Amino acid sequence: MPNAPLPPLDQPVTVLRGVGGERATQLARLDIHTIGDLLLHRPRRYEDRRHFRAIADLHAGDTAAVRGTVVAQGLKRWKHGTRSVFELILSDGSGRLHCRWWNLPFMENYFAVGNDVFAYGRLVSLKPPTMDHPETEVVEAGEESSVHLNRIAPVYPLTEGLPQRWLRALVWRALAQFESAVAEPWPALALPDLPTRANGLHMLHFPEEIADTEIARQRLALDEFIALQLAIQRRRKNLEARAHGLPCGGDNRLMKPFLAGLGFKLTGAQTRVLREIRADLAGPHPMRRLLQGDVGSGKTVVAACAALMALESGFNVALMAPTEILAEQHFRNFSRWFQPLGVPVELRTGSRKTDVEAQSELSVQRQTRVAGPAPNHQPSTLFVGTHALLTAGFDLPRLGLVVIDEQHKFGVSQREQLVRKGRYPHLLVMTATPIPRTLGLTLYGDLDVAVIDELPAGRGRVKTFVRTADALPKVWDFVREKLAAGRQAYIVYPRVEEGDLAAGVKAVVQEVERLRVTLAPHRVGLLHGRMAAAEKDAVMAEFRANRLSALVATSVIEVGVDVPNATVMVIENAEGFGLAQLHQLRGRIGRGAHDAFCILVAAAKTPEARERLDVLAETTDGFRIAEADLKLRGPGELLGQEQSGMPPLRFGDLAGDLALVERARTLAAQLLATG
Ligand code: ADP
Ligand code: MG
Repeated sequence: MPNAPLPPLDQPVTVLRGVGGERATQLARLDIHTIGDLLLHRPRRYEDRRHFRAIADLHAGDTAAVRGTVVAQGLKRWKHGTRSVFELILSDGSGRLHCRWWNLPFMENYFAVGNDVFAYGRLVSLKPPTMDHPETEVVEAGEESSVHLNRIAPVYPLTEGLPQRWLRALVWRALAQFESAVAEPWPALALPDLPTRANGLHMLHFPEEIADTEIARQRLALDEFIALQLAIQRRRKNLEARAHGLPCGGDNRLMKPFLAGLGFKLTGAQTRVLREIRADLAGPHPMRRLLQGDVGSGKTVVAACAALMALESGFNVALMAPTEILAEQHFRNFSRWFQPLGVPVELRTGSRKTDVEAQSELSVQRQTRVAGPAPNHQPSTLFVGTHALLTAGFDLPRLGLVVIDEQHKFGVSQREQLVRKGRYPHLLVMTATPIPRTLGLTLYGDLDVAVIDELPAGRGRVKTFVRTADALPKVWDFVREKLAAGRQAYIVYPRVEEGDLAAGVKAVVQEVERLRVTLAPHRVGLLHGRMAAAEKDAVMAEFRANRLSALVATSVIEVGVDVPNATVMVIENAEGFGLAQLHQLRGRIGRGAHDAFCILVAAAKTPEARERLDVLAETTDGFRIAEADLKLRGPGELLGQEQSGMPPLRFGDLAGDLALVERARTLAAQLLATG
């Protein structure tokens, strides 16, 4: 045993009395391996066992904890014993409560007449008072009453075979033995308004008052946020210590003719943001900047200008989009913009990379659009692609700037990966998803933020309406009218799968046939994520050229697609989307001078669905919508499944803890400055 002894909280749970192999296996299923894990096992709820509700006072529908004595119990079976109900009758002197368990015959082994029992559940009926499948605990004679009784008792998430009371007693013992070993993680910080971490843990499990649990949560959440902010700020500090910024400020040689040929003047916000970017690109450290701007605010042009600065400076630039459709749209736009300037633009997407030859149409396009001499001494080039730009084997020499469009589809670790390709190129991350501040500070805390808070002038407005499915005939009349006037429309469905039809979700593949009839003689195209890339390209090209009047699509059109003549969007089953996503979708219209119309069709008539969608009818302010979405759906949606590099928060709540996140940010900076 030459190993140094483990720190107390890192010791395995088996050092605790009563924890053998089997219990340890059960605890491991709850991800509890060490004493520290056990102390952080967060109660699911608390039960105030100082005061119980009298059974006679309960109302139907109440959720309540009661305490009583078992006066009768019995098991009934039928259908040859395959079905059963076990019923337990508790009396607390005021009345009798019937507890029922359906098809769990073994429950009868747990109770005996005369037992003292806690039951927690919802009263499904009053005649007689009945709870189905309540949570129960039998009070055992001679038991530590201080742990389970006459107090606010924690109720933990469990796993099969692990009794609530056993776990509660274990946590109690672990606290008694190890609470004094819980160190203050940041002794240099004064947190006078909060308990110590050790106290916080105690209050988390065995609070004196219910209000203590929130104070405890805040302390533990703050610790989580400080750890996160430290990691974020350290990463940034390391980068600045290690890496010098490549000189990418440019000399306006390409920028001047580019702006002159653009056909519009940059907005004040675009100009301001570009000044910030230029200062970064010419600065001593690699740029790490998040560019936020609502849909349609003109981020692409800003990206183009940033790219030109790096290109003018003799560096290559990589531009990454989340989908092939978008990468191709960027490729087309940037080719059109940069060709006249003599800047080569190359497309690199997943499907193009592997079957570049087979994709004859595009490879021809590629060949013709890659102007300039042989690859070896190619002039500074803009590479446009998707995630494929990340895959090994594709190395970008002289990479000066990486632009990531629509960041929320990329994870933090992917961001890091890309940057490792070059020698610390500058990084510009663009997002149209307004990020609520808590998330921004957490996910992008290592980035400086620039905001384009102004839409180009002369934009048509987007009017948004919420309708139910029975109004669809009128909606199609309206769409036909707009198409007849020369406008184009998107019609969006949430899913492609057949299987969802049963659930009332319409399948685009079938819907498009109906709409071809409904909207005749206007031509209707179909676009969904399962189509081959070449097929998608062809459809998008037709729509862009106004040879298709309407495009029936899944949410593949969510981000970035830009067809200014498309002024109508109908979103069916709109309640199936998140608000932020609907806002993104809506951003596809209102990009030209004509007024635009977004019609959200809700299949369900539920008031909640309606209320949620009304937020969109009321505002086009992406930030307000994002905040509402975060509150309604939690951070998971905004983080996306791909968002790695973000440890799970046990106590912190990204939807509600802005003050704590901001405090943690300041405290972490303080720690780094002094440490
Ligand atoms: P997003 O911020 O959603 O990516 P885009 O960059 O796609 O927005 O811009 C939306 C549309 O507005 C494009 O057609 C673009 O050419 C146009 N645009 C961008 N900036 C301006 C401007 N300053 N004045 C007029 N139109 C602009
Ligand atoms: Mg865009």
